[in-house]
Amino acid sequence: MPGYELWSDKERKEVNDVLETGILMRYGFDGPRKGIWKSKELETAICNTFGSKYAQLTSSGTSALSTAMAALGIGYGDEIITPAFTFVASFEAILSVGAIPVFVDVDDTLTLSPEAVRKAITPKTKAIMPVHMCGSMADMDALLEICKQYNLLLLEDACQSIGASYKGKYLGTIGDAGTFSFDFVKTMTCAEGGVVMTNKEKIYFNADGYTDHGHDHKGVDRGADLHPFVGYNYRISELHAAVGLAQIKRLPEFLATQKKNHRQLKEILSSVPEISFRRIPDAEGDSCTFLSWFLPTEEITRAVVAELKTQGILPGNFYWYDNNWHYVRKWEHLKNAVTLNALHPEMKASVMHHATKNFAASDAIMSRCISSSISLLWTEAQIQEKGEKMVAAIQKVLNS
Ligand SMILES: *Cc1c(COP(=O)(O)O)cnc(C)c1O
Repeated sequence: MPGYELWSDKERKEVNDVLETGILMRYGFDGPRKGIWKSKELETAICNTFGSKYAQLTSSGTSALSTAMAALGIGYGDEIITPAFTFVASFEAILSVGAIPVFVDVDDTLTLSPEAVRKAITPKTKAIMPVHMCGSMADMDALLEICKQYNLLLLEDACQSIGASYKGKYLGTIGDAGTFSFDFVKTMTCAEGGVVMTNKEKIYFNADGYTDHGHDHKGVDRGADLHPFVGYNYRISELHAAVGLAQIKRLPEFLATQKKNHRQLKEILSSVPEISFRRIPDAEGDSCTFLSWFLPTEEITRAVVAELKTQGILPGNFYWYDNNWHYVRKWEHLKNAVTLNALHPEMKASVMHHATKNFAASDAIMSRCISSSISLLWTEAQIQEKGEKMVAAIQKVLNS
């Protein structure tokens, strides 16, 4: 799964370039930085690698989402439709711009059910935000169609699916804007970092200013920049961008290894007829960071999780249904709208309402799902051994 597993001289070299000059900030200091612009270089590499016209680096995937939303003009009074299965950052970002997260069910793609999205649309809906979970994609044609029909923005949270694609286009470049996270456990890492990608100049201009206190970045004198709107500091540092620059060059290698290891593990698990796999709208485009699979019932799934644990092979296998971070069921803080900053009472009521709806359709999927993370370090023999142990544990439960 993550690029950190293959830390190398290449990352050290890029970081050292920055350490040599000591210019750790991405803006200004044109003389002393001696031509070293790691953030700019990484933004160019992102545009070239993923086919996006513009890219704005940020301090994290979470700040990339907040930035994208602000850049798209999403805020007070707006509802964003997003899945009940995601990472908490998705709704954190929505709350950060004062909008309301409207959670809807996922289907067997583990992403937004287009049918559920249609039912959730109200006059306040401003955007649909699919989250391309666990390396693979939402049904983008269906979502694009809905956005067109209702004139809605499409913002892709592709933080977990760097390098995955849908019908030849990279995830994160299909909607009005898209984001990646480069945190430590993502497919490629900056240690911490993120990016907003868009093909629209205005959205890029907004994102660029928003991440740097509203600076317009039009002149060469930072102190003389104008501030067309209020922004924040969501800047990435040159040290972080340097790590990412080394990693993006290695991304093809990471993806090829992921796909190879994923294929081998999937083949082994396929020997169990009771196992079914996540539906992938474009199988070619799966980045294969995870292999996600289903068992027939929640009871069997829980027993398998327990058996994997007993045998010491649970690590790397995720049962999201019980997880605090990724599924609505355990988001108690959100359900009670516990925030440190007081929310407007109406907003607070909306947040609580949407987080406590009935998600029976998602429960039926998530309670039977296990995702196995794919390591870049596994040897063929290790995958064989791991896969066979998993199959034995599953068979033991099925035969009991
Ligand atoms: C990791 C992640 C984020 C946020 O990224 P950070 O860089 O950790 O802030 C957002 N959305 C999803 C789906 C993620 O997995």
